[in-house]
Amino acid sequence: MSKELALPEQYSLKPIGIVHSCFKEKFAIPRQPALVPAAKGEIELFSPYDDPVALEGLEKVSHLWLSFIFHQALPKENEVRLRVRPPRLGGNKKIGVFATRATHRPNPLGLSVVKLDGLKNGRLQISGIDLLDGTPLVDIKPYVPYADSLPSAINAIASDPPELSKVEFEHSALHSAKHHQQRLQQPAIALIEQMLAQDPKPAYQKPNPTRIYGVRIWDLEVQWRYLESGQISVTSVDLA
Ligand code: SAM
Repeated sequence: MSKELALPEQYSLKPIGIVHSCFKEKFAIPRQPALVPAAKGEIELFSPYDDPVALEGLEKVSHLWLSFIFHQALPKENEVRLRVRPPRLGGNKKIGVFATRATHRPNPLGLSVVKLDGLKNGRLQISGIDLLDGTPLVDIKPYVPYADSLPSAINAIASDPPELSKVEFEHSALHSAKHHQQRLQQPAIALIEQMLAQDPKPAYQKPNPTRIYGVRIWDLEVQWRYLESGQISVTSVDLA
């Protein structure tokens, strides 16, 4: 690199806020935003960005780009991963890191477009998220439809959204989910259905009807199993 172009070796980023998310662990979070519209969260901004002045104009905007840190996938020191195994390719085929949206990357920076549902108690209400609870945010930008939506764009690795799995609830699980939905004042049933329709288990893993899977959303532990048909059956929804 020429001397005039010499760059500092490091830049530092400081979080402007944090995401409070319905997803309490990485497993079962959708692999991209917008796949699970019932996935909700809110953004708590840190001082000095918690000033309403910084949000002026956002009432005119329906969607946001969130730049964030994959804080639970930080690269180890001196670790270099040129190729990764994206779940999209079944989790067992490697591809160049820059052709993927994998969490393990040179810098642990993520980018998600989310729906802005409003402002409540000074916090931005967002949905359609693919973010873990506690995710540090480094920036927020408005989605600009004329520039950000490119109907002619091609990505032959991920050309269509993932196929959806069928999800049903066992009777007692549905009863319990209805109770917790009411208590939480959150669309818990839609969240469970949409989240599991993405089939969170690794693509290379064959469904094992004797195995029970579980994940935490809000303050709940949701458990399910795979029927012989491959369909997903929610077996319980209880306080975690
Ligand atoms: N839309 C973003 C992007 O393209 O940069 C994220 C895509 S990444 C494939 C989505 C996955 O990141 C989720 O399924 C979840 O498991 C993981 N994830 C979300 N928030 C995270 C965080 N704070 N730390 C580590 N992993 C996270």
